[in-house]
Amino acid sequence: MSYQHQWLDGTAINLPVGKAVCVGRNYAAHAKELGNVVPDAPILFLKPSTAIVPLSPSFSIPSDRGSCHHETEIAVLIGQTISKIDVKDAAAAIAGYGLALDLTLRDLQNQLKKQGYPWEVAKAFDGACPLSPFMKPEQLGDVYHTAFTLTVNGEPRQHGLTDDMITPVYELIAYISQIFTLEAGDIILTGTPEGVAALATGDQLVLSVVGQRFETTVA
Ligand code: ZN
Repeated sequence: MSYQHQWLDGTAINLPVGKAVCVGRNYAAHAKELGNVVPDAPILFLKPSTAIVPLSPSFSIPSDRGSCHHETEIAVLIGQTISKIDVKDAAAAIAGYGLALDLTLRDLQNQLKKQGYPWEVAKAFDGACPLSPFMKPEQLGDVYHTAFTLTVNGEPRQHGLTDDMITPVYELIAYISQIFTLEAGDIILTGTPEGVAALATGDQLVLSVVGQRFETTVA
């Protein structure tokens, strides 16, 4: 399905669809649940624009490459090109906030990690980044104190609080911009809280943040 960034009301956002820069292990409790150490500096990886698909009304997962886990994450939409910025200039570069699923082929990723290989085939495949519509920064409110949740088939699975981020949003943007130029239309996935688990075809998901509910189905 073709993808374009959208606002909550369904209108198109006049920005191209760029890369997704993702951070690993940004919540200590999630690092622990996978038996990983909490890193000294953010662990970054990329998903190409071809990984991005609409979250709703449905998305698909690979059927023949082992378990595919949900990782529910706050997504930040970048509104202007930035490079090597200071933390104080990060807020001005943010066009909006939404929710994303950082889909992860966990069995494959575990094999790759063991062998010391890159993670891309487990995390950057076509469709690996279902993305909700975006809200304006003022609609989200304080991104340092924001709760977000995922339920699967009515069961609570993930409950995140941005207060728990090891590297919070503005610091993360400034850090990423030292390494990768961020272009208008790029997104940042800010890490997942604990509670990741495998998805199955037919699962009904509800992702929510500040009163916005995004419903979807694993097709
Ligand atoms: Zn993730």
